[in-house]
Amino acid sequence: MARPLLEVQELKKTFPARGGRQLRAVDGVSFTIERGETLGLVGESGCGKSTTGRTIVRLYQPSAGRVLFDGEEVHSLHGSALRRFRRRVQMIFQDPLASLDPRMTVGDTIAEGMQIHHMGTPKERQERVQALLRAVGLNPEHASRFPHEFSGGQRQRIGIARALAVQPELIVADEPISALDVSIQAQIVNLLERLQQEMGLTYLFIAHDLSMVKHISTHVGVMYLGALVEIAPTDQLYSEPLHPYTQALLSAAPLPDPKVTRTRPRVVVQGEVPSPIDLPSGCRFRTRCPFAMDICSQVDPPLIEVAPQRQVACHLHAARSTAA
Ligand code: SF4
Repeated sequence: MARPLLEVQELKKTFPARGGRQLRAVDGVSFTIERGETLGLVGESGCGKSTTGRTIVRLYQPSAGRVLFDGEEVHSLHGSALRRFRRRVQMIFQDPLASLDPRMTVGDTIAEGMQIHHMGTPKERQERVQALLRAVGLNPEHASRFPHEFSGGQRQRIGIARALAVQPELIVADEPISALDVSIQAQIVNLLERLQQEMGLTYLFIAHDLSMVKHISTHVGVMYLGALVEIAPTDQLYSEPLHPYTQALLSAAPLPDPKVTRTRPRVVVQGEVPSPIDLPSGCRFRTRCPFAMDICSQVDPPLIEVAPQRQVACHLHAARSTAA
């Protein structure tokens, strides 16, 4: 069997906090993404999903754990292997305006990566810029304009063209539609889906809302306070969410299919997310979980496989472990 394109193994990322304490932003996250698939990574603000994405692309060094891209350990790469990784893995950011240099034309912005990676002649790069602008639904004449001349949705299209210019294999999209109008969000998701099919791309698609990742993801992972609490094929996660937190997220986001909305469990959580500097004992969700039991304050439930490709971290499902 071919190895996964991306393997994240027990990844941890801590940041120093006041009083010599540690903020555990990512606290032992593991998942894999096969070629051509999309993992949607979802959770409330501060759950560690963006830090996970940024650590994968080497914007952060991990505190512990490993990230393997096509079998190679990402944070040990040097020289030409690192340059190759930087071409093969690209990131799309939430705020397209902040991620585009206001002094560079759109054409130069898109061509910059190709220049850095010595791809093609100046004429070939120019032709590729035109082709990419067409591919993302913009006019090739837009190459001579500046980012401020475009709408938010158009700027995100420019960000996508820039990421695609160097022919990447994996794209880490960090909340790429959260800052856009609802009417534009579906257009960008459809564009990313079409480009994935045409170019055989693999995506890690980070979002704070389960409804945003449903259509584009083959699998969905749900994060809470730095940990993955559930990961499953998309259909199964939406039709039968197992973790109480996933159930709560789905209860809060009505889905277009009324049959699914009627049959799935309704779970409402109370209270605020605890601080990642001071995690609750045992299960990190127990302070808000309507099903918390005695064991939940004593033992942190591990993420266990309860069915093929389905993993959940909750004592309610420990008896379903396929390892038992
Ligand atoms: Fe709720 Fe306990 Fe499951 Fe945590 S382990 S989600 S507290 S039932």
